Amino acid sequence: MTTIASTLHAVNKRIATAAKNAGRQPEEIKLLAASKTNPAEQVKKAWQAGQTIFGENYLQEALEKILVLSDLSIEWHFIGPIQSNKTKRITANFAWVHSVDRKKIADRLSRDRPEMLPPLQICLQVNVSGESTKSGVSPKLVADLASHVAGLPRLKLRGLMAVPELTTATALQRSQFHMLRDTYDQLRQDGFDLDTLSMGMSEDMDIAIAEGATIVRVGTAIFGPRRYLIPEELAARVAR
Ligand SMILES: *Cc1c(COP(=O)(O)O)cnc(C)c1O
Repeated sequence: MTTIASTLHAVNKRIATAAKNAGRQPEEIKLLAASKTNPAEQVKKAWQAGQTIFGENYLQEALEKILVLSDLSIEWHFIGPIQSNKTKRITANFAWVHSVDRKKIADRLSRDRPEMLPPLQICLQVNVSGESTKSGVSPKLVADLASHVAGLPRLKLRGLMAVPELTTATALQRSQFHMLRDTYDQLRQDGFDLDTLSMGMSEDMDIAIAEGATIVRVGTAIFGPRRYLIPEELAARVAR
């Protein structure tokens, strides 16, 4: 029988191997367990097996789990699309947000982050595939958004995040990760104090690690197939 402890162990081994093949230290790469659609009991099993960082896409679903699991020391990351009327509850319940792609949202997160909590850790989501349906700031505008976010109180700009186009073409996948890495290196050269590249999922974490990922966001490889598809996944099916 496959257990979450065993799939988690396998994913950690995959990360270590990919790191080694890329001449990197495994400790440079953090594993975020993307737990959307999986109930709190599954999250708890992963936590009991040693996983402490979890990512959620939908606020209502996330808040229920965060409440149920509030006695566990979990670092919660918000990785889904952000509606402006949700920023208060996001800032009150999450340590990180990976999906900031416009100034208006950044302003609201800054305004709403409670004073007694540490700064909210921020990644800017970049649209590396150029698909018009995808969220994310265009690579051309990311420097401007980074300057804006770096100047906001109660936010700490950490790096960049991307969800590349779903494709089986390894070369295309790799070029999208590479583009994110280039954008990240350019920002660092321009003086931004960044240490986080959030890229790579179940299918492609190995390529992402070869291209410099410091956080991989993994769902299916840990929890198994999702119980239901999320809107983005449904849209991708219809498009194909
Ligand atoms: C669901 C999701 C993941 C994990 O995807 P898997 O293919 O299940 O590993 C990573 N990042 C984001 C933004 C997601 O929505």
